[in-house]
Amino acid sequence: MTHLTCAAPGCTADHARADRYCVAHRTRLRRYGHPLQRVVTAQDLQPFACRIASRLSENGEVRFLLADRWSKLVEVVATIARSGVYRVPFGDPSSDRRATSVELEAARRFLTTAARTTPEKVVDLVIGLTILRTLKPETFEDDRAFRFLIARRFFGLSTSNAARHVVSKSTTYKTFHPDLMLAIAGWLWAAFGEVAVRIADMEKAEMEEAMADDERLRRSLDALS
Ligand SMILES: [Zn+2]
Repeated sequence: MTHLTCAAPGCTADHARADRYCVAHRTRLRRYGHPLQRVVTAQDLQPFACRIASRLSENGEVRFLLADRWSKLVEVVATIARSGVYRVPFGDPSSDRRATSVELEAARRFLTTAARTTPEKVVDLVIGLTILRTLKPETFEDDRAFRFLIARRFFGLSTSNAARHVVSKSTTYKTFHPDLMLAIAGWLWAAFGEVAVRIADMEKAEMEEAMADDERLRRSLDALS
């Protein structure tokens, strides 16, 4: 039996299969889209929840428009699942084509979660992950991992209520076809990506301003002594 060393940088674990990675790194690749990507939990996003809430409540119309965008996305995905015709959400209708089996499965999975969550939770999730990526880019190995985590945390929304107690760990960590993850992330990004980037940039600017203020204060205090 030939033993090969895992292809993940810094990993010395070996494996006997015709695979590039050891079990641990292969699992991460399947779950999070990159062999080195670590999990991002609901707790990691918690600090941003209040900030997003206050930002969006300053302009009630934005909340309303985002909820409307969510309804439209659900409608498009429901049409894909029902008709088998793929239409890019918020895209050009003239590009309609037959949906692949993975896209149909993605549509069904999407709708199952959509029925168990609220537009607010979905919006806050996409914005929260985007703020995290903007403030701590090192959290995500690459854009693919970022997208996987959007899809994974989206699935997590349907278990983040009382239902969580009856869902086993194996269900929570079920892995899907990579194209399914990327399709779902792509739909959510088409709906909320632009707003998420704008809000994340505002958060970053505000944080940098606060840090500059701290620095000024520190220098002034130094000058006192
Ligand atoms: Zn490894």
